[in-house]
Amino acid sequence: AVAAEEPITPPVEVKHTQLLINGKFVDSASGKTFPTLDPRTGEVIAHVAEGEAEDINRAVIAARKAFDEGPWPKMSPYKRSMILYRFADLIEKHNDEIAALETWDNGKPYQQAVSVEIPMLARLIRYYAGKPSLPQKKETPYGVAGQIIPWNFPLLMFAWKVGPALACGNTIVLKTAEQTPLSALYVARLALEAGLPPGVLNVVSGFGPTAGASLATHMDVDKLAFTGSTDTGKIVLELAARSNLKPVTLELGGKSPFIVCEDADVDKAVEMAHFALFFNQGQCCCAGSRTFVHEKVYDEFLEKSKARALRRVVGDPFKKGVEQGPQIDEEQFNKIMHYIRSGLDSGATLEAGGDRFGTKGYYIQPTVFSDVKDDMLIAKDEIFGPVQSILKFKDLDEVVRRANATRYGLAAGIFTNNLDTANTLTRALRQGTIWINCFDVFDAAIPFGGFKMSGQGREKGIHSLRNYLQVKAVVTPLKNP
Ligand code: ADP
Repeated sequence: AVAAEEPITPPVEVKHTQLLINGKFVDSASGKTFPTLDPRTGEVIAHVAEGEAEDINRAVIAARKAFDEGPWPKMSPYKRSMILYRFADLIEKHNDEIAALETWDNGKPYQQAVSVEIPMLARLIRYYAGKPSLPQKKETPYGVAGQIIPWNFPLLMFAWKVGPALACGNTIVLKTAEQTPLSALYVARLALEAGLPPGVLNVVSGFGPTAGASLATHMDVDKLAFTGSTDTGKIVLELAARSNLKPVTLELGGKSPFIVCEDADVDKAVEMAHFALFFNQGQCCCAGSRTFVHEKVYDEFLEKSKARALRRVVGDPFKKGVEQGPQIDEEQFNKIMHYIRSGLDSGATLEAGGDRFGTKGYYIQPTVFSDVKDDMLIAKDEIFGPVQSILKFKDLDEVVRRANATRYGLAAGIFTNNLDTANTLTRALRQGTIWINCFDVFDAAIPFGGFKMSGQGREKGIHSLRNYLQVKAVVTPLKNP
């Protein structure tokens, strides 16, 4: 593994640390700031303006004015499209800088950010740029959309929220996660440069219980969208209900099964299951965090999964060839280490990893547990880290029952070449996304969201337009000639 000791200087400068309200970068009303940290070292990258209730209120007033007085919701669909296309072009132009900022603040491998995530951001904006001119009959924007996003994919979550809301003519107050405030500010400035009128997209950095809760309870926010943990999702839904009953879209946690069937090509299944869990340092709401393996291939699968985890390249995410960077922060680091201890205490067998990696920052060794039982905490809770749990199964009925025995229902992976097996599992699994012989395939056009406590509603695709449009019935008597 690559040493994590000497962090590379990121090839980008931090340009924006203030709040973006009404088209201008401004300090918070209180003048307060908070540090955003480099997960490679725990050192401060920058001090960022800390938005609180008063700042959320200022942003909502700006968004309200931009909605009520226009021009955004009244603009011709063609003109709105053109601004969004220019926005996507500018993202593409600054691709490498944006990727560097994302890696610096989040810790994800730069190669992945630069070649997959930021291009995907531009694609998502472009996909929604094409939507304003869909015939919408009597569907009309909600007004001011409040959006609260997490830290694991700061810009993809930005795009899933901002793209459809803007395309439908809403105005926005977006609250970024306190761990990763930098990239959304940079990108929002590009939206202004593309011609987005002031007040249409406001970005407030700050913490959940202050800035986030103020947005969820604000009486002049017409619609709320949230991505984050299930526990926080419940709070946000309650705040929305208690204030003005604003409708809420929720994308929450998961404990997704990845099912390796007896006919599977073991080498391919090992690689896919490894990717399904370890991608993005294991910090994915849809991570394949329960690897169910048929007993016939279990031993071979286990040996190879262990070897793969030991080969995983951990280190400075700016270094070429690094597959896994640090976890986002100390809190997540401690939470994951707690789950690793819990796995050991509950009698699971540690096959690989199990400890921190290096001496600095929030790196964790790729960890694999075998002999995992359904009632162990590591098989039930969302760990959100590089910890793979491998479970054995005998037949399809059994694996369906066990895979569904969870409060979550976000995603599932199926690995088989047998069409009947794939069909049986696809019908029986209670999950919002089923990936067959693949995993984490995201496209702007494919809807995403959860069953059960993994959320409410769907994002991406044309499904997300429904989150930002409401039906208006217009009736008038016809004049008979
Ligand atoms: P995580 O545990 O992964 O940090 P959270 O669900 O707590 O996930 O955070 C996701 C987003 O929700 C972040 O932007 C965070 O600031 C925000 N948030 C946290 N607590 C609250 C709250 N009480 N009200 C509104 N937003 C919140």
